[in-house]
This record gives sequence, C-alpha cells and structure tokens, in this order.
Amino acid sequence: MEIKITKTTTPKEKPQGPLGFGKYFTDHMFVMDYTPEKGWHDARIVPFADLVLHPASTVFHYGAEIFEGLKAYRTANGDIQMFRPIENMNRMNQSAERLCLPQIDAEFGVEALKTFVELEKDWVPTEEGTSLYLRPFLFGADPFLGVHAVEKAQFLIIASPVGAYYATGLAPVKIMIESEDVRAVRGGTGYAKCGGNYAASNRAGAKAEAKGFSQVLWLDGVERKYVEEVGAMNVMFLIDDEIVTPALTGSILPGITRKSIIEILKDKGYKVSERLLSVDEIKDALATGRMKEAWGCGTAAVVSPIGQLTYEDNDYIINNGEIGALTQELYDTLTGIQWGKVEDKYGWICPVA
Ligand SMILES: *Cc1c(COP(=O)(O)O)cnc(C)c1O
Repeated sequence: MEIKITKTTTPKEKPQGPLGFGKYFTDHMFVMDYTPEKGWHDARIVPFADLVLHPASTVFHYGAEIFEGLKAYRTANGDIQMFRPIENMNRMNQSAERLCLPQIDAEFGVEALKTFVELEKDWVPTEEGTSLYLRPFLFGADPFLGVHAVEKAQFLIIASPVGAYYATGLAPVKIMIESEDVRAVRGGTGYAKCGGNYAASNRAGAKAEAKGFSQVLWLDGVERKYVEEVGAMNVMFLIDDEIVTPALTGSILPGITRKSIIEILKDKGYKVSERLLSVDEIKDALATGRMKEAWGCGTAAVVSPIGQLTYEDNDYIINNGEIGALTQELYDTLTGIQWGKVEDKYGWICPVA
C-alpha cells in the first residue's frame, strides 16, 4: 500500500531543556482507516493534529483500543535505528485478535514506522540516553452504541522525543506487592497491550504512589500468590544462580525487552527459568540471603533495578538497595545494542536512515 505524505507548512520549534516522557510531539502523524468493505486503506502521513471522532465511537464506550511502544535511536555516527519493530507489529496483531480489532500486515507496519521516522528524523534527539518514542495505536470507531464486534477502525502512529529515563544513573526503585486489586486474569486480556488493562491498574498504582512506591508488583488474579509483572514492566529475579521470571501464562504482557534479555542471558550461559514464582518463595529467598538481584524490564526504562519489595507492610531490601552486577550488565548490553555501541549479533536492529 502506498503511503501518501502531506508535509506540515508550520513546523514546530524543537523543545529546549529536559524532554521528560511523552510531553512533546513531532510535526506529523501516520494514519490509516479500516472498513470491512475496503480493508485497511488511505495510509497517509499528515500534519500532527487533533482527531475528529463521532461521540458514539466504540473506543469511548467499550474500550476497544490497543497500542504499542518502541523507540528510534540515534547512533554515534548520526544514523537512526529501531529495535525489533517487527516484534511490536506481531504483538499488536495478537492484541488485535484478542479484542476483535482488524489486524495489520506486520511487514507493512514496519514500513509505515520506517517511512514515518525517516520523515521525522530531525526529531530523533542526539543527547546521550535520549530517543524518539513511537506509539502505534489502533481503536474501534463505529459510530453507534450497540455492543458489537468492531467494524470501522483507525490506526495511528505518533512520536515523542524522550529524555534519558534515568537522569542520575540507574537508581533502584521501591515496589509494593499489591494484594487487593488484580490487573488481569487468565482468559482475560492480560497478554494484550490494551488501554483497558491500564484503566484497571490505576487504583493500585495511585495507592502505591501515595505511599512512596514507584510501581506495584501484581499477583495472579486467582490465588494472589504468584508474581506476574510490575506496572508497565516484566520482572526478573536472580535467586542463587538461577534467573527466574514469571512464565507467560496468559495474564502477563509478553515483553520484547523480557524476550531479548532471556535470549542474551541464555547466550551468556546463565540458567534462566520461566516458571511460576510465589510470594512465599520470594520471601524465603530474601530471608535466607539467596535473593541476589531483582529488576523490571521494558522499553521505556530498559532495565530498572528493584531495591526494595514491600508485602503486607513488611519491607524487604534487595542487594542493600543497590544495583546488582547482572542488572547493570544487562542494561549495558541492551542499551549498547540499541544505540549501536555494542555489536548486534542477534539481528535485532532495523536501520531507518
Ligand atoms: C509494554 C509492556 C511491558 C513491556 O514490554 P516491552 O515490549 O518490553 O516494552 C510490560 N508490561 C506491560 C503491562 C506493558 O504494557
């Protein structure tokens, strides 16, 4: 499908000072429309603008929305590259399947990303640790209120230059294990990257934040016994010499960072287990000094060391509240590949311009 480009006649000033996350947007956006008759059509890049939607649009009433998140990185020699974008497009199709939204040819999705990032290349920041965050999203736009599978849909990509996640180095975070609310259940939408999962997470997130924690660690929705993931990150623990991460049982988001770290760890000869991990096992490993390190992993932060876990008002400190050697090594390896400082022997890098 051809992508029609209409350039803005009023380009914006690039932001000065700290970028933060998701505050500034580039000059354009990618848009395409879906109807059952025409399939996906009218792929276009147009000046960034507000959307005009019918007030009855499905997305506003029944939450038919999915999204992705990935970054474009500028390398030392000025090139621009993305990290495993095909994985994002494949995952978006899995999310679409779960929510009965129309799927997009994954290869075309990557082409759309490339074309869009190339047009916005001046927006990919150059400072250490910065990147252009890309947000593809897809939603139902049928203009009537009957509850039904979506027919009309829209897919967009918007982009935001973002700052280094850690202004002052990798600082360990405090995480609260949530024992009341649950984020997802098996058979539900936990494995889909959909806005609704975030809506369901807000209350626990707000409660944790009010108590001074950065995020919550979710437990499984049935027994509230097994750990699942942290906020918008997957989670891993180094217990003795085994790296343990919750298995993808259906209620956990299959992170691309998670998948990449597992591949790197196995490649380096570490023992990695994707399995059920109970809070009791974690408490026991902490009490007996076998819990060496813990970290969250996701596109935004890459790797986020966990310095403290709190469960039922008991605080458990991990690695003296400091970043562990393996956590640091994983951060260095992944960011090294993403910014083109470490050889990409896995073929994960997708050059743009
Ligand atoms: C996006 C996301 C992650 C991390 O996935 P990556 O592909 O590594 O960025 C983890 N958990 C949730 C709930 C997410 O939405």
